[in-house]
This record gives sequence, structure tokens and C-alpha cells, in this order.
Amino acid sequence: MPTKEEVLRQVIDSGSLPTLSTVASTLINITGKEETTIHDISKLISQDVSLSTKILKVVNSSFYNFPNEVGTIQQAVAILGTNAVRSLVLSFSFLNMERPAHGKGFDYERFWEESLAAAVTAKLIMGKVSDTDAEEVFTVSLLQNLGKLILACAFREIYDQILQDADGSEQRLLELEEERIGANHAYIGSEAARHWMFPETLAVPILYHHDPDSYPQQNAEMMTEIRVAHLAALVSNIMYSGKPIEYHAPFRERAQQMFKLEPKVIDGILEKANTEVAQAADYFGLKIGGTASIPELLQEANIELSLLNMSYEQMNRELVQAKMQLEKLTGELEVKNSYLEGIANLDGLTEIYNHRYFQEFLDREISRSIRRESELSLVLADIDFFKKFNDFHGHQAGDYVLHEVAQLCSGLIREYDLIARYGGEEFVFVLPETDLDGAVIVAEKIREAVAQHLFSFGEDDYRVTISFGVSTFECAGKQVMKKTELVERADKALYSAKKKGRNRVEQYVEKSGWFGR
Ligand code: GH3
Ligand code: MG
Ligand code: MG
Repeated sequence: MPTKEEVLRQVIDSGSLPTLSTVASTLINITGKEETTIHDISKLISQDVSLSTKILKVVNSSFYNFPNEVGTIQQAVAILGTNAVRSLVLSFSFLNMERPAHGKGFDYERFWEESLAAAVTAKLIMGKVSDTDAEEVFTVSLLQNLGKLILACAFREIYDQILQDADGSEQRLLELEEERIGANHAYIGSEAARHWMFPETLAVPILYHHDPDSYPQQNAEMMTEIRVAHLAALVSNIMYSGKPIEYHAPFRERAQQMFKLEPKVIDGILEKANTEVAQAADYFGLKIGGTASIPELLQEANIELSLLNMSYEQMNRELVQAKMQLEKLTGELEVKNSYLEGIANLDGLTEIYNHRYFQEFLDREISRSIRRESELSLVLADIDFFKKFNDFHGHQAGDYVLHEVAQLCSGLIREYDLIARYGGEEFVFVLPETDLDGAVIVAEKIREAVAQHLFSFGEDDYRVTISFGVSTFECAGKQVMKKTELVERADKALYSAKKKGRNRVEQYVEKSGWFGR
């Protein structure tokens, strides 16, 4: 990275510095000499008719508000003073300078508009804080960012990128300039001013305008100029950075802190700035885009901000709602899923568990029974003469009875027992923790209840009976009974019940086969 001095050399050698008009450079030259008279200065300026006309126009404008018309340049120089006239000439010289072709990143028209805004504001502020003539600070503020223009010209592509990356932040811009080029625009601008032989009252404030506190404070007047230039830059930022709110508070704070400006005075400056800039642009022959008044800009930005917040909140609300909706749906889906799962396990007609679920359940209970060495009994139940029932009363009545029997039986077993439709008019009961005798008691209770029950369907009442076969799972010793064996035994017992006349409970008994109760 080159030193800032090397960067400066490179800039000067590359011819990137704008060329001052002959009048301006001569004027600087002669105003530096003690022997120069008002007459000399007037004569020099008067040679440039166009410049003279412009200066007189400005001097007679509301920009100065002189009570009497100023008719000649000599009068103007006499009234304004040498320094003020020099500043005016410099301002014109720069504002009327030829603009390079429009680059992508650097907008020259915009640059001068912003610079003029700073200059006009500086003049406004100076009018509030000091009796010092405001012409010098006007020119300082007009040229305080000249370094940007010079760097943009000398390091076109790098500078375009720097401007883009700085994203409207002056502080970031200075940092990036130093990082990527080796010198910031305050230094380059100030040195360019020295190169053109500008007086120190112009060159020094240009160097410190971003950071008034770093000025060593030898000269109170200079300090005032630097501070005013600094405040004016902030106002220009309020107007043109696109981030008015970001620069507004710092401006108010520093205006108060540096010059003890009352809020009312600050408001006055802010309210006037844009119209004063528009007027000045007219006097100096600068075409500008202009901005709304600062209070309007701030209000707009605040509205945008609150809109942004609002839509964010709105968005948030909608997100929360969407999430709630999703949770509700998920919940419903879970319920539906478990319902479907439940349905998948249920028998459609009787609304009790189906055969498939019975098999799963029995598997689990057998495992548990083995693990815990606990009892487990199985009861098969088959409605008696159901074929005949259907034949006599119709299939619908039969369906009804199947449903009713299932429901009736469901109500008679314990919570951890299972009743399932085994198939057709057959039901199965799985009774955990129940030995053979216990299971027979349960079966008997159910048999009794069904036999007692009057099934009313339509106009008719029906009675049905059921036969039961009971078996018990045995896992004592080394021989563990198979599931199929358990079922077969119940089936055999059931067959026995049928054989023995139906409407009865039979239990499977090993060795001797099966016995009735
Ligand atoms: P048993 O006393 O020997 O059991 O005589 P059963 O007529 O009940 O026995 P079988 O196995 O001969 O007949 C079973 C009948 O059960 C046949 C069928 O009409 C009836 N059935 C089976 N499933 C259904 C059903 O879902 N709805 C109706 N309405 N009847 C059914
Ligand atoms: Mg049957
Ligand atoms: Mg039957």
C-alpha cells in the first residue's frame, strides 16, 4: 500500500486534478500578495464577462440581501471583501467546471448538488454562530469533498467499488479509501487545494471537516470554520444519503454541543436548507434535482420505518398464525392418523377390534406372560344357530345383533382385557392375568348377560345365546405353549360346548380332552 503522499503524487502526475479557470488561479495568486489592490482584483474578474455577470447576479440576490443594488465588480469587491470575492470566484470556477462523462459509480451532477447543499447550509449555520463572513466557509463546504471527485477520477474502478461498499456511510468511505487506495478524500482534497495555492483557511478545514476534534485547535476562527463545515456535511447527508434519520440526530447533537445552538435555531436551518439550496443552484447556474424539505424527508423516512416495522409485525403475526394453523393441522392430522390407525384395527360392523389386531395383541400378551410368568386365558365365543337367525329375521337383524352382542360384551370385561371379532359370528376374548377358572367365570358372566338380553331391532325383539370355549396359556416349565395351540384348545372347548347343547361354557382340559362345567 502506498503512503498518502505517494498517492497524492500519483494523482497529481496522472493529471486527475481538475484544472482551475485562469481567472481563479490568477486570483488566488494575486490575493496572496500584499500589494494587490481591490482594483487589481476587480480588473481581473471583469475580464471574464460571463463570470462577472454571474458574480453580480449572486451578489444582488437574496443570497446576500444587500439593501442597495451592487452595480459593478469593483463595488462587489469593496463590499464583500477580497476573501469573499475570491471564494465566490472559486465556487464558480468549480461549479462551472466541465464534467467528465458519466461513470457508473460516480455521479458528478449529484456530487456538485450535494456540495452546494453543504455550502449553502454552511453559510446558513455560520450566520447563526459567528459574525465572520460566510463566504469562506461556503467555499470550504463546497470543496470539502473535492477529494472524492479527484479519487473517482484517478482510481475509477476501485473508487466505484469503494462508493458502493461504503453504502452512504461517510465514516466507512474514509476507511475504505485508506484501505484500498492509501489516502482518504479529506487529505487528497486538502492537498489539492494547497497544490492550487488555496489559502490555508480553505485547505485546512477541508482536511478536518470529517473530524473536527482532530484539529489541533490553534486557531479559533479556523476551528469554527471546520466545525461549521462538519455540520454542513451532516445536513447534506441528511438530504442526500437516503438515510436522513441516521444523520439527523448526530447533526442536532453536534450543533448543540459545538455551538450551543437552540433546537429552534436548528429546526430553522433544517427547514430552510432545501429551498436555499434550490435558490443558490439558480444563482450559480447549477441544474439540480433537489430534495423535499428536511422535515418532510424525515417524516417520510419515519413513516417508511414504521411501515417497515408494521409490515414486519404484520408478517410476524401472519407467521404466528400460519404456525398455529400448522400446529392445528398437525394436531388434527395426528388425531386423524391415530383415528385411522384405530379404524384399521377395528371391525367395521361391530366396532370392536378386528382379527388382525387380536393376533397382534395376543402376541404381545403371550410375550408378557412368558416374561412375567403370569396367567393368560383365551375365550372363543360363537353365536348359536346364527345361520338360522339370519334366515328367519334377515341379515340386517343379524348385523344388528352382532353389533349389539359385541357392545354388550365390551362392557363386561376389564380395561386391559380384549374383545375382538374373530370372524363371522365368532368373538374372541384375551384375558391377561387370568387363569382358567377365572376365565370360565368371565365367560359365564358374559354368556348369562347375552342370554338375558333382549335385542330390539325395529318392531321386533330377539334373543340369542352364545357358546364359549376357554383355554389357558401355559408357560410353566421348559415347554412354552404356541399361540396356535392356545387358540386351537379354545376352539376345541368351543366345539365341545356346541356339542353339549350350546349356550354354555367349556374349558379345555389336557389329557382327558375337554370337560363341561
Ligand atoms: P352354530 O350354533 O353351530 O354356530 O350354528 P351357526 O349357524 O351359528 O353356525 P354356522 O357356522 O353354520 O353359521 C354361521 C352364520 O353366521 C353364517 C352367517 O349367516 C352368519 N354370519 C356370519 N357373519 C355374519 C355377518 O357379518 N352378519 C350376519 N348377519 N350374519 C353373519
Ligand atoms: Mg361359527
Ligand atoms: Mg354359530
